Amino acid sequence: MSVKETINKLRQELREHNHNYYVRDNPTISDYDFDIKLKELQALEEAHPEFYDANSPTLRVGGEVTKNFKTVVHEHRMYSLDNSYSLEDLKDWEIRIKKLVDGEVNYTCELKYDGASISLTYENGRLVRAVTRGDGFQGDEVTANIKTIKSIPLQLKGDYPPKFEIRGEIVLPFEGFNKMNQTRLANGEEPYKNPRNTASGSLKLQDSAEVAKRPLDCLLYGLVGGDFKFSTQFESLEKAREMGFKAPREAQLCGSIDVVFQFINHWDKARHHLPYETDGVVVKVNSLFQQEELGYTAKSPRWAMAYKFKAEQVSTKLKEITYQVGRTGAITPVANLEPVELAGTIVKRASLHNADQIEKLDIRVNDEVFVEKGGEIIPKVIAVDLSKRPRDSKPTQYITACPECHTPLERLEGEAKHFCPNVNGCNPQVIGRIQHFISRKAMDIEGLGGETVALLVNEGLITNYADLYSLTKEQVMPLERMAEKSADNLIQGIEASKQIPFERVLFAIGIRFVGETVAKKLAKHYKSIDALANASVENLEKVDEIGVKIAESVVAFFSLEAHQLAIQRLKDYGLQLAVSDEVLANQTNKLEGKSFVVSGVFETISRDELKKLIENNGGKNVASISSKTDFVVAGDKIGPSKKEKAEKLKIPLISETDFLKIIT
Ligand code: AMP
Ligand code: ZN
Repeated sequence: MSVKETINKLRQELREHNHNYYVRDNPTISDYDFDIKLKELQALEEAHPEFYDANSPTLRVGGEVTKNFKTVVHEHRMYSLDNSYSLEDLKDWEIRIKKLVDGEVNYTCELKYDGASISLTYENGRLVRAVTRGDGFQGDEVTANIKTIKSIPLQLKGDYPPKFEIRGEIVLPFEGFNKMNQTRLANGEEPYKNPRNTASGSLKLQDSAEVAKRPLDCLLYGLVGGDFKFSTQFESLEKAREMGFKAPREAQLCGSIDVVFQFINHWDKARHHLPYETDGVVVKVNSLFQQEELGYTAKSPRWAMAYKFKAEQVSTKLKEITYQVGRTGAITPVANLEPVELAGTIVKRASLHNADQIEKLDIRVNDEVFVEKGGEIIPKVIAVDLSKRPRDSKPTQYITACPECHTPLERLEGEAKHFCPNVNGCNPQVIGRIQHFISRKAMDIEGLGGETVALLVNEGLITNYADLYSLTKEQVMPLERMAEKSADNLIQGIEASKQIPFERVLFAIGIRFVGETVAKKLAKHYKSIDALANASVENLEKVDEIGVKIAESVVAFFSLEAHQLAIQRLKDYGLQLAVSDEVLANQTNKLEGKSFVVSGVFETISRDELKKLIENNGGKNVASISSKTDFVVAGDKIGPSKKEKAEKLKIPLISETDFLKIIT
């Protein structure tokens, strides 16, 4: 056997043993023999650097040091999950699903692992990239650290598509976590708080050799991209296992929501015997075809739902109620608590939502209160322990003036929150609005962060977002922590933002109730800020999905002189305040007033492209067929009940070719 063959054979053997030990929990060699083979391979690799392989089993021990993790844009977005808390929630979800898809719906139930999410990219069977979830659009590349986790295959088995991603969760099993803490205690160090934070912290360690020492594990449940043959979520898990991944075996196929609920009830208890933390169950529509039909909302798939196990609760003393002012002027009362441990973290503050909530629960300073942690980062106060209420306790008087600028607060009819009306003179509002303006989904100004904005406002250099565009390098240089280079970057970033398309500028200027999606709609409909500013409430309400609340808010925004002035300045500075000619060229009104249901699989274009074409030509996409639908664009595999419904309501079914003819 040549050296090269020996090396390959050893690598192959060691991979197999790793897989049996870490993925299948079924060791096929003694630790001692494994070490001998590993050493043999190491020696050969050292003597023959020409056969170097970045994915060799010898490199699992780490060593590579990353100073700055590279930001990588996810090729497929990493979505969140909607949460449910009861059988009713799940049944409501099923009703929504069944309106949108045909036929029977089955579910794959999986446990919701509480760790750090990760996306792994494989090319030609080799791990090439590992990226954290980040904000779902982009994350940090942590490949060197991930390679040290032995249950993650560096080289796949069997057959696999040339390129795909797999998603999962990096977890730190209790046993390893406890061992780590014992060592830390023995060394006189603070113990780690909980496995989840320790797992996600591990991914960002600079020295991968340190990561290698941590007993991390990785459970994988989501194949994305790639031309796979399976057609259900459940089969996809099996396929993942065949390729060598640790895909959770607790997953179960359920024929109805009632069976789903049995699975949930079982695991609500049984999870306490699992080696790692779980905080719920993820229910996924099993058929991938149905998944595609259901699609996504702005944040999460419609085809999946997380069920959260009941949150942990603790009681503690409420020391003080303070009030926060948000960027819209909304006031949020905050409970300042006697610090207490809850689900592994120390809690000092909790949200009290609004005045009504305080009144309803009759929450008072010095009360013993129950605090619960749901999915949110900020825990909430859910009840008062009245038996412990001090005798001299007095009901809470909600504040009447802004804690920041002392302006009397207002409360509009039908609104839960109080507002500070001092829009242009209340510091957190001024800062918050500019921070929103520069944020990633808005103007995405590189080189400028939230803290710098606060600094600029507090130094009196800017008072609104238009002021950003007249900033000079000389003005910002003297600021704290500002060097020549960062000042240059900041000014350049501001300059570059002048190219940001109109729909995002519209989102950035911060009209109440105009989020990303609404901004897109308005931009598309009105095409310029002038047209939008001149629109009446009635006119706005005619725009699809724009209700009276949004319409009134838009009109109110443009009626303020301060806003008109700011917009005029943005225009003068050269920002994009109208849809560009290029975008306009791709838009027509051919389908104006027509609504479409797109269903099935298409040959020449993807379903998403089809929907985009409908929108770009002025049409409207709707999810389910009703008497108001004008056309059903039907592809292959359109469900029989959809077809029937269309026929019954006499709605024409057209093919993709018919459709393309209409718009050209
Ligand atoms: P959330 O962060 O609450 O929106 O929940 C979404 C996250 O749940 C995902 O990003 C995953 O990291 C995590 N997760 C854990 N287990 C699963 C699972 N079986 N399927 C999907 N997501 C899961
Ligand atoms: Zn104020």
